[in-house]
Amino acid sequence: MNAPVKPSQLIKGATGDWEVVIGLEIHAQVSSNAKLFSGAATAFGGDPNSHVSLVDAAMPGMLPVINEECVKQAIRSGLGLNAQINLRSVFDRKNYFYPDLPQGYQISQYKSPIVGEGIVVVDLPNGDSITVGIERLHLEQDAGKLLHDQHPTMTFVDLNRSGVALMEIVSKPDLRSSEQAKAYVSKLRTILRYLGTCDGDMEKGSLRADVNVSVRKPGEPYGTRCEIKNVNSIRFIGQAIEYEARRQIGILEDGGSIDQETRLYDPDKAETRSMRSKEEAHDYRYFPDPDLLPLEFSQAYVDELKTGLPELPDQKKSRFIGTFGLSSDDAGVLVSERESADFYEAVLAKLSDAARDGKLAANWVINELFGRLNKDGQNIDTSPVSAAQLAAIVDLIGEGTISGKIAKELFEIVWREGGDPRELVEARGMKQVTDLTAIEKVVDDIVASNPDKVAQAIAKPAMLGWFVGQVMKSSGGKANPQAVNDLLKRKLGL
Ligand code: ADP
Ligand code: MG
Repeated sequence: MNAPVKPSQLIKGATGDWEVVIGLEIHAQVSSNAKLFSGAATAFGGDPNSHVSLVDAAMPGMLPVINEECVKQAIRSGLGLNAQINLRSVFDRKNYFYPDLPQGYQISQYKSPIVGEGIVVVDLPNGDSITVGIERLHLEQDAGKLLHDQHPTMTFVDLNRSGVALMEIVSKPDLRSSEQAKAYVSKLRTILRYLGTCDGDMEKGSLRADVNVSVRKPGEPYGTRCEIKNVNSIRFIGQAIEYEARRQIGILEDGGSIDQETRLYDPDKAETRSMRSKEEAHDYRYFPDPDLLPLEFSQAYVDELKTGLPELPDQKKSRFIGTFGLSSDDAGVLVSERESADFYEAVLAKLSDAARDGKLAANWVINELFGRLNKDGQNIDTSPVSAAQLAAIVDLIGEGTISGKIAKELFEIVWREGGDPRELVEARGMKQVTDLTAIEKVVDDIVASNPDKVAQAIAKPAMLGWFVGQVMKSSGGKANPQAVNDLLKRKLGL
């Protein structure tokens, strides 16, 4: 499906090159006010056990009732992943004992998930893009949390998360480097955020990944994989893959073999270590939950949800390229967060028609605004420069009222002091000088006092740049560069 793996993606071992094969299982918390099978709140934080219904605590005789909002969110997510939506799916019990799981089983989906195969297009930092297959997306319950640090001899349990809806999104083993895996998770998170189906906040645990890694010599069948559980940052996903791939290569090159096992990533030591081997793997004894009917809905229901989807990042990117003439890179940066894309469009909407220049506006949003926001550790929601103010600055450049250089000074003033850019330009005399008589005087002076340079410029017209620089300098950057250029050419007879 994708282009062959490039040599740069291979890992060099003592016995030659190795290819890394990665498949991810992402757990994404569904954005919904209530849990998957109860009316208890899903809000983050809150006192322990303050968001727990009798269903979540698995009191005898309690029955789960499916939350339609979570079903809709799963379908919308599936549509956003260009995936097959299954009109009939089944909830199964996945049986295991753990103290944070009062039911003694997790309600999940096994053989018949709500969403089947799909695809995600992922742009890589080097400009290439890959297509990653989605195996399935299913709905399941989250578990509670054990608190080991509250009492010297006891462990407490907080069931606030118990029963919160998760979407498990399983990729095919289509990823070939830590770089690709990181880009895939970012893209998936962007899509879910656009859809509003998961807030993607990895710090709060709203999105976490089980990372499956194996290695092979290029062209050989897939090797045995290890699964690294519950990695909760994109950076750690990359580090875990790098470490794990090298660990496996080391074993294989020493003549050993890989045991299929579940491992943990320890960010402090930057290593993975074994949690349990395949022999210790659970037999979950899945069976359809007798308390829940199969989940069925009509194609019309799916179609209606599809109609209501927002414009997704890939479509937005194509539109930015097609309509505003942006480069693929610039469009990609703008659409990577919905808020950034919205800000850019708000700037465009405020531009005066005459000077409308989508590329210039993109340049200012990406390089000046994002650069400045980064420098201050702020984000677009708290930007001191509004879309209207930035649009005014872009307009002022577009009409030739100020030069790009002055615009940067103006931007800094607006950032620090606020104000109407147009009024500031007036009040502080920042206007570009296009008046030829004023510029001519400066040009004449410089030409007269530099006869040697004049001779050089006549011999070598590239020297003109030196004169332009001098004129710009003595005009405090306010002379119109084009007018200066024209005038100089005329004066020097070039
Ligand atoms: P399980 O339910 O036991 O975790 P799955 O077949 O659902 O098994 O696969 C889980 C994940 O492992 C998927 O994301 C898949 O892409 C990935 N995977 C499967 N085989 C390999 C392999 N050889 N190397 C790396 N990842 C793999
Ligand atoms: Mg698994």
